[in-house]
Amino acid sequence: MMQSVGIYIHIPYCRTICPYCDFVRRGIPGEVPEVFIEALCREITAFEGPDRAESVFFGGGTPSLLAPSALRVVMEALRQRFQINSPEITLEANPDDVTPELADTWQDLGVNRMSLGVQSFDDDTLRYLGRRHDDAVARRACEVVRERFANWSMDLIFGAPPVESWVDTLETCRRFNPLHVSAYGLTYEDRTPFARRKDESVDDETYLRLFWQTEEVLSEFVHYEVSNLARPGYACRHNLIYWQNLEYAGFGPAAYSFLDGVRSRNLVNTDAYLRNPGAKAEALRLSDEEIRVETVIQHLRLRDGLFLEDYAQRFGRSVYADFSAETAELVERGLVEEHVGALRPTRRGFEMNNEIGLALVHPQRVSAAKR
Ligand code: SF4
Repeated sequence: MMQSVGIYIHIPYCRTICPYCDFVRRGIPGEVPEVFIEALCREITAFEGPDRAESVFFGGGTPSLLAPSALRVVMEALRQRFQINSPEITLEANPDDVTPELADTWQDLGVNRMSLGVQSFDDDTLRYLGRRHDDAVARRACEVVRERFANWSMDLIFGAPPVESWVDTLETCRRFNPLHVSAYGLTYEDRTPFARRKDESVDDETYLRLFWQTEEVLSEFVHYEVSNLARPGYACRHNLIYWQNLEYAGFGPAAYSFLDGVRSRNLVNTDAYLRNPGAKAEALRLSDEEIRVETVIQHLRLRDGLFLEDYAQRFGRSVYADFSAETAELVERGLVEEHVGALRPTRRGFEMNNEIGLALVHPQRVSAAKR
């Protein structure tokens, strides 16, 4: 078992529910209830697994709805259970929750990286997305965060009408100069109010134009993962744990863990979680082969890809020996290339990243797709 993990804390509450969102969350009028904090702390205290953590990521939901006293209690529970030396501690915040006082408190409690859910600087786009904040609130929140946190990230969404607002949003983002940007294409998921509006989604050509505009405008950034860009040296350490298929422990409803070869998920329903925090909805021991496949798939989301030497050291095998047919097929299809001792996605492999996953999980589909 590896000794150091990334910790994910899921806060499943939001003030209002955005119509495109399919995350596990529920609406509440005020702050995160105390009964949830108690359950979360019980789960953390009872955790059986590694003792060291190198990152903590408060995601959701809306972690900025945590009262300062609640965040303090959770941080104390984490520090008692884990040795967390020089960690990256990220907290996701909605712009309309951000005040100078609250941001000061987050910093005092150990948060050293903020992830701000701006999504857009265009009021029409924000209205379409059903967000609580407008452009002015987003700008104020950016000011507050950048004055206090050297390391902060901005979440943005492209593809929502009016789609041409994307370039202006990127330009504004660039002026605020965060160290990290996550840029996701809007999706119209089943089981969300947006499922009925699928016909409003942009066509593939527009999607790709917006996708590549991101790195064109944010040209000082490294487009290091399909949906993530960072100033050199500021890739999200926590998310790199997922993309390198290393170990992580998730706390809170629906949170996933990957520990000692077992992928598990907490109870998804928040009431069920409150009654039994830490109980698993599912747990699956992965075979060595499954772990190798997932390791390759995750790495091929990264611009740097998978270094052949790293794979050999980790598994004592050659990636070409393990995936000769698949890698040959992916190279032939122009999705993957070899570059200075690494297999990495091409431009096309970035655009059609799920095709890489499909090819590695189900090689027969590659042949089917070619026919
Ligand atoms: S604030 Fe975030 S988690 Fe909550 S409903 Fe909106 S998109 Fe989903």
